[in-house]
Amino acid sequence: MNQVRVRFCPSPTGNPHVGMVRTALFNWAYARHTGGAFVFRIEDTDSARDSEQSYQALVDTLRWLHLDWDEGPEVGGPHEPYRQSQRLALYERTAAQLIADGKAYHCYCTPEELEQRREVARQEKRAPGYEGTCRSLTEEQVARYRDEGRQPVVRLRMPDHDWHWDDLVRGQMHVRDEHVPDFVIVRANGEPLYTLVNPVDDVAMGITHVLRGEDLLSSTPRQLAMYEALGAPVPRFGHLPYVMGEGNKKLSKRDPESNFNTYVEQGFLPEAMANYLALLGWSIGEDREFFSLQEMADAFDVSRVNPSPARFDIKKCTAINGDWIRTLAVDDLADRMLPFLQRDGVLEETITTEQRELLIQATPLVQERMETLGQAPGMLGFLFAADDFAVDPDDAQKLLNEQGLQVVRAASAAVADLPEFTADAIQSALREALVDAMGIKPKLAFGPVRVAVTGRRVSPPLFESMELLGREESLRRLALASE
Ligand code: GLU
Ligand code: ZN
Repeated sequence: MNQVRVRFCPSPTGNPHVGMVRTALFNWAYARHTGGAFVFRIEDTDSARDSEQSYQALVDTLRWLHLDWDEGPEVGGPHEPYRQSQRLALYERTAAQLIADGKAYHCYCTPEELEQRREVARQEKRAPGYEGTCRSLTEEQVARYRDEGRQPVVRLRMPDHDWHWDDLVRGQMHVRDEHVPDFVIVRANGEPLYTLVNPVDDVAMGITHVLRGEDLLSSTPRQLAMYEALGAPVPRFGHLPYVMGEGNKKLSKRDPESNFNTYVEQGFLPEAMANYLALLGWSIGEDREFFSLQEMADAFDVSRVNPSPARFDIKKCTAINGDWIRTLAVDDLADRMLPFLQRDGVLEETITTEQRELLIQATPLVQERMETLGQAPGMLGFLFAADDFAVDPDDAQKLLNEQGLQVVRAASAAVADLPEFTADAIQSALREALVDAMGIKPKLAFGPVRVAVTGRRVSPPLFESMELLGREESLRRLALASE
């Protein structure tokens, strides 16, 4: 078999969204699995909607996920350029050739005329598609339309037969002839449409497999017609299932949870996002939900893609992220938390050697319980705070009451003169003074101390935190609280 060539060809409008990134991932995995090529193409022929910022976000997203592309923007390749806005001459030539061959034609119908005919069709209960009105205009008719100043669109002349394809995901597909009327491929202003440029480029770039979302299912018959008109071999199509969001509604581009950037900003790991997105329609095997990008590539098979809708479950995605966080080496996790600590002002842009050491020492304390890197500032902020250290007012109100303050004072006295200020020594001293001597239950005993020292009721383990803070700072905070 020839080399597999797949493509990811988004339009750069808005933010990358979950469904789109899943499509990129599946194409990448298929290319890597088969030793084929992953082509990245930018479909930016709609100048009114496309933006450079969105283009950059797409590039950044693929890089962030480590989905490397063999051909495309930034890396080049044998079919350059890979941005459709730079390939307009090809589309113009192709449209002209299709017209010359009688496979496409100019249509002079105005939007009002089309709407009128659609209305009539609806009343007569017929399918409201274009009826081929301009298929064979005489020269006089054309001359008259031109005199009226009408600018024609270009339509493809659909052959009279049904459409069939064996979908890689959905099996045998069949669309009846009358459901696919002659469609527009070039706008009146000369702008080529998706219906033209997408298959033209798939042909030019030798694409063998088209894996894309189910929302594009209805464009497949038109693309088959375009291949036929171009006399080009037809690729295999595979349509990935819808992604459902909250309330089992189709996740739409406009839903906030579909914006891929939010996951980056909240501190999901690329490993975890790739892992979770892979589960939206694919499975690596029985009961296995945790795997790396490489493992996905090794195992990926389109025939295992499930055609039924996939549910985007943020809880599960978060849990997988936590699992990935726990696999990281301490240094690595510290490096990944750093930008989040800096973003929230816990650490400065440049950090001292001592701060880095402290961060490394504190990392194992949070690694066990952290779900996203975005939680790092909340969990670790107390360690790096100095004069600006403050106790959460709610927690203070709840726990630093009269008994709480008594506990805090006793705690301070118990650890002030420890020969070694280590977690173990702190723990035994506090147990002895608070639980044994004062007879307070451990939870009630350590809660106020925790709030005093870390500023919050929920924090990394208390005794280790005090050790990391050091004697002086721990005592300072205990004193601060008891005032
Ligand atoms: N530019 C199209 C889109 O983003 C590509 C669809 C396709 O994969 O054919 O919807
Ligand atoms: Zn017409």
